[in-house]
Amino acid sequence: MNDAKIYEVLKQHFGYEHFRDGQLATIKALLAGKNTLAILPTGGGKSLLYQLPAYLLPGPVLVVSPLISLMQDQVDRLHRNGEKRVLMLSGGGQDRRQQLSQLSQAKFIFASPELLANPEVVRALQRTKLSLLTIDEAHCISQWGPDFRPEYLLLKQLRHELDDPVTLLLTATATPRVRHDILTKVGLSAEQVVTIVRSVNRPNIFLAASELASSDEKQTTLLKLVTTLPGAGIVYFASRRLATQMAEWLRENSTLAVAAYHAGMPSAERFRIQQQFMDNQLQLICATSAFGMGIDKDDIRFVIHYHLPTSLENYVQEIGRAGRDGQQSAAVLLYAPGDEQLARQLTTTELPPAGLYQKVQQGQADRRVLGPDYELFDFYIRHHYSISQLRESFGKRQSQVAWQLHQMQKYASLTSCRRQFILAYFGESTVEQTDCCDIDEPGWLSKPLLPPRKTTVVPKKNERWDTQLQRLLNLDKESNFHFSNLDKQ
Ligand SMILES: [Zn+2]
Repeated sequence: MNDAKIYEVLKQHFGYEHFRDGQLATIKALLAGKNTLAILPTGGGKSLLYQLPAYLLPGPVLVVSPLISLMQDQVDRLHRNGEKRVLMLSGGGQDRRQQLSQLSQAKFIFASPELLANPEVVRALQRTKLSLLTIDEAHCISQWGPDFRPEYLLLKQLRHELDDPVTLLLTATATPRVRHDILTKVGLSAEQVVTIVRSVNRPNIFLAASELASSDEKQTTLLKLVTTLPGAGIVYFASRRLATQMAEWLRENSTLAVAAYHAGMPSAERFRIQQQFMDNQLQLICATSAFGMGIDKDDIRFVIHYHLPTSLENYVQEIGRAGRDGQQSAAVLLYAPGDEQLARQLTTTELPPAGLYQKVQQGQADRRVLGPDYELFDFYIRHHYSISQLRESFGKRQSQVAWQLHQMQKYASLTSCRRQFILAYFGESTVEQTDCCDIDEPGWLSKPLLPPRKTTVVPKKNERWDTQLQRLLNLDKESNFHFSNLDKQ
């Protein structure tokens, strides 16, 4: 496929003249029939990676996505672009049968991994000559990733049943170990895959964190930050209640136009707030992590976290919403003792007692007795996991979650450059950048935000990929050790 043809489709179907970094390389690899793992940060135009090839390939593209809301967002965008040949598989019975009879007329088919475990759906897909299988949010397949979803484990078999179609694995961030795990879990070796990675580094985002003695001090610091930092901003909270209360408090104690945003609000209200923020009628949003998906605002100047995020993966994604226009922006993490308790609560899933699990397994009790996470356990039951297999799988997952949280704590209390720490975490070469974080520039808040500095990549360690992985695994052992000590205190 020549580049001219690809650019023609870019202009004709998407209205763009140029690709963003990493897009063209990914599209060319796919059109050449190569399986591709693309790791492009949020806002990197990931949907284009499967949408553009769809117009140059004969058959439909199947997109697997973990959330209905993510799929709906993609479907709406395609519709707005004038594309009608879109099918989002859902429901059951008659509706589904009708959908399945239309598969070969579709250009884009969206489905959850759970639905793709259904034999009727698989048979219909086998009759459809798929041109591309896209696995969105591919890190969900990795137990080492921040958002592991057991249904993603079914995708290896699906891929096989569909006769190994060319596969695009998409994710925003993945450490070398998660990358490795993604490939293993879909049944591909590193040699069978082209990997395209864009750096997680955003040179125009200044990094800062403050360790504060109490929640009162945290509140005062927040007020100072939001009234000092220029432009529009987002403050992330770990709970809906806190987001609502703090929005109220900031409205009373400043002249800022502030609103709260969380998934518990009516959708019309949420939509209105998004629009007002985009139109600069609101300067500040106090939100939970529900805010951000589908937000297309380039000039967000700062992102503040009022709690400890559960992983650096999540943190980097959320701060990546700042400074999309390339102008100087800031990311500030506020941290008070005890915050890690809350974060730990958020990431802990309690296993049900073995007796109950077995009862449900043998059909002697309703799955709801397994507690608030019964749907998750139900998945394991349906896929014939014994209680000891479940325990093993959970144990692994939990130590990983603990490690991620511990890395996040380390980031919060660093005494050396924060940027270098993030880059090392994601297995990237270090960069040389001056005034890049509060460690290099302690008095940063009293100065106007500086224009972004030039960044030089220093390929210091030309490590082999597996050496790098080994280093991370060692790091992991060490941290688990510290962490288990910490837990006992
Ligand atoms: Zn720094």
